[in-house]
Amino acid sequence: MNLKDYIALVEDYPKEGIKFRDITPLLGNGEAYRAATDAFVKFAREKEAELVVGPEARGFIFGCPVAHEMGIGFAPVRKPGKLPREVVSYEYDLEYGSNTLCMHKDSIKPGQRVIIVDDLLATGGTVEATVKIIEELGGVVAGLAFLIELDDLKGREKLADYDVMTLMNY
Ligand code: IMP
Repeated sequence: MNLKDYIALVEDYPKEGIKFRDITPLLGNGEAYRAATDAFVKFAREKEAELVVGPEARGFIFGCPVAHEMGIGFAPVRKPGKLPREVVSYEYDLEYGSNTLCMHKDSIKPGQRVIIVDDLLATGGTVEATVKIIEELGGVVAGLAFLIELDDLKGREKLADYDVMTLMNY
């Protein structure tokens, strides 16, 4: 099956000139959703992952089934104010302004092998911040898996030191 058949292109969303890749048709098709998560599980097994980390919100949708299938834990990456206990946070620049991401301080054990799962790699800012937090907590980033990679935005260049897999490229 070609997973690209289940990605809808939305022109000028959320702003004019942006080509938004909408993953919800893929989520709505059991076979396509399972094919995507199975590919992530295979990668996570190869990387001997011990924990899955996913940025809110679509990283939850793809990361949790991987953790469930492997029988390992899942740790969420969230915007400020959403996690109730002590967090480690990282602020990164956006085209206009900045963004901050957080993880609970005790969500990763030192030396634990972690795989990051998210829907889409664009500029790589989100995932780079996630990597920084994991490493500050003593985790080992064993791999990064994305459903979609937008080649023109060159996110992969920020991740040259890591093992990155993507299921489709635009
Ligand atoms: P980055 O930080 O620039 O790599 O952006 C990646 C994040 O933005 C991901 O977590 C995506 O959920 C979101 N994102 C950026 N572009 C798109 C898109 O075209 N479709 C869906 N999500 C997107």
